Amino acid sequence: MHIEAITATDIAWQEQALCAQTGADFFFPEPGSSVREAKRICGLCAIRSTCLEYALIHDERFGVWGGLSEKERMQLRRAEENW
Ligand code: SF4
Repeated sequence: MHIEAITATDIAWQEQALCAQTGADFFFPEPGSSVREAKRICGLCAIRSTCLEYALIHDERFGVWGGLSEKERMQLRRAEENW
């Protein structure tokens, strides 16, 4: 079993997260709910690329990260695997 430690440095960027100011509801909506508002906020976020990279590296399965939904991150991961 591989256990990866997440250090404070790894997540220091989250202090600049716009979603931390708006609350998590937009970013972790009920299944079938719109993620449009979350994506709009991500589009204004200065750390979007760092957030997306973190989500991909840590295989975040739920919610909107870096402006992409779960399904979009999965598609991106598959496209990168086939590159
Ligand atoms: S890109 Fe979106 S999910 Fe990521 S930190 Fe910014 S607002 Fe939050």
